[in-house]
Amino acid sequence: MKLTWLGQGGFLLESGACRVAVDPYLSDALAAKGLERMSPPPYAPQALAAGLVVCTHDHDDHLDPQTVMPIALARPDCRFAGPPAVVAHLIRLGVAQGRCDALAAGGRLDHGCFSIAATAARHEGDAIGVVAEAEGLRVYISGDTLFFDELARDVRRSAGGVMDLAAVCINGRWGNMTWQEAAMLVGDLRPRLAIPMHYGMFATNTADPGPFLAAVREMGISAAAMEVGRTVELRELLK
Ligand SMILES: [Zn+2]
Repeated sequence: MKLTWLGQGGFLLESGACRVAVDPYLSDALAAKGLERMSPPPYAPQALAAGLVVCTHDHDDHLDPQTVMPIALARPDCRFAGPPAVVAHLIRLGVAQGRCDALAAGGRLDHGCFSIAATAARHEGDAIGVVAEAEGLRVYISGDTLFFDELARDVRRSAGGVMDLAAVCINGRWGNMTWQEAAMLVGDLRPRLAIPMHYGMFATNTADPGPFLAAVREMGISAAAMEVGRTVELRELLK
């Protein structure tokens, strides 16, 4: 399985010919609200070539109309999934209902070689996290969420086993875990590797990944910061 951090909470997962994007924010749409990107998008939306786009919740940095609509138009076979509020927004934008799958916490969706489980998140409305599984590897992407006691248990139950990678938000603002809470969640989950995310996109809502990485390593768990746009082979990353 290959993994590319798209920046913020966004990831591209690839297994063979299957490409799944989670929370791609590939425009600068939020500059109009005073939130300019700190670096250019690693892909043009049309070039992402995803067969499935999962949006964990209906916020512009996770469901970006200027990202999802170019994808929807460029790839008529691309499907979309997310909690009901996401699906409703996609349909309002003009994505055909038949291309959308509702994926609420506790739900599951198969797409090609990927099995996607939606996990609980506490952020806004019906936000979810995601566990994507392919090639016997499990990747947890927290989406945006606050820390809560049952979170690790819920994720573990959805994953049905050991987590190979956990990508967790660390920005500590606007309804997201602080780096300390993110490290606590990783300590509960004990994945083979933890990576911090949801930083480095907007100057007013970023965080230093250093303290998170140090705290996770102190617990005897591997941690690494990813480089936006650089595709890595997950098994290599886990070595
Ligand atoms: Zn966000």
